[in-house]
Amino acid sequence: MTDARIFLSPPDVSDLERKLLLKAFDSNWVAPVGPDLDAFEDQVAELVGVRHAVALSSGTAALHLALIAAGVRRGDTVLVPSFTFAASANAVMYLGARPVFVDSTPDSWNVDPDLIADELASRAERGQLPRAVIAVDMYGQCADYEPLLTACDRYGVPLIEDSAEALGATYQGRAAGSFGLAGVLSFNGNKIITTGGGGMLVTDDGRIAKQARHLATQAREPVAHYEHRSVGYNYRLSNLLAAVGRGQVQRLEQMIAARRETFEFYRQALGDLPGMTFMPIADYGTPNYWLTCLLVDEGRDRIIAELARHDIEARPAWKPMHLQPVFQDCVMRGGDVSADLFHRGLCLPSGSALTARDRERVADVVRSTSKRGG
Ligand SMILES: *Cc1c(COP(=O)(O)O)cnc(C)c1O
Repeated sequence: MTDARIFLSPPDVSDLERKLLLKAFDSNWVAPVGPDLDAFEDQVAELVGVRHAVALSSGTAALHLALIAAGVRRGDTVLVPSFTFAASANAVMYLGARPVFVDSTPDSWNVDPDLIADELASRAERGQLPRAVIAVDMYGQCADYEPLLTACDRYGVPLIEDSAEALGATYQGRAAGSFGLAGVLSFNGNKIITTGGGGMLVTDDGRIAKQARHLATQAREPVAHYEHRSVGYNYRLSNLLAAVGRGQVQRLEQMIAARRETFEFYRQALGDLPGMTFMPIADYGTPNYWLTCLLVDEGRDRIIAELARHDIEARPAWKPMHLQPVFQDCVMRGGDVSADLFHRGLCLPSGSALTARDRERVADVVRSTSKRGG
């Protein structure tokens, strides 16, 4: 028997989710409304430690609605980490606003709080404050919220937390998603838990949750005929998918433990190789170990190609937004750190259903390729 393909971060679903999904199906709540949707929101709100959660069709939709809540409009600027997935910046563009990209710190690969503070200070002087700041919890590790929130509060600029990759992580004992005006979660197929596509906006602010719910359901006014006072979106999550989410949330702790074990295995197995450094884990919190990532001084692409030859999916770290053709006209603060992370960064298979044998297959290929190249 040949070994099965190893994916970077495939869905990990069990009999629990299957049962909940079929139960929802049989209940005929086959719509973007229903008891599973309500229960899933309650579970996640409790987990994140916030008052409100609004289940949506994607993390990108949650970002879009969070930016609307922050008051972002046409012509505004929003500070966004360059080192992120494109969705963080795309949501800014949907509103006709412009992202201003900010570099990362090598200490955690997250946005550099000093650069954010500098950019806010110089923009305040020019009378050009951004309407919002987006911080991203990269690869499952929280950004450094204490200095970020101090800088934002100083100028009265709201912070949006893109926690799409970080459900279950903490910063100074507080859960990812709970920082700033609103937090954004994703349940896309590759994330730490999945509904097969979905997202959530989490917030302590009841007005923001109410507005998000309203806009996500085509901005229908509460009257029998269809009455609309603003332009809405069709952004609600299906009750069927929420049923899957209910099961996934119950297994979150065990899935984080599995990913952490994988991280520790890779560090043991590869940490001694020359020219390889693992993504630093800052001492201010605990990550959810969504992806194990490392820097490879030489031969990163050769390793990815060799893994592919062995039917193993690995990827470079994110290509920064300031190097993307679509954002070539946007302003960038700094840039060397994120460019370096892109050129040397390697993400290894990290799914929570990865077996011990799978991890060994990955590590063997990385070790032998790295040795031959050295
Ligand atoms: C996945 C992801 C998103 C988008 O989430 P979707 O549910 O796929 O729309 C946004 N930001 C980051 C950092 C992500 O990794």
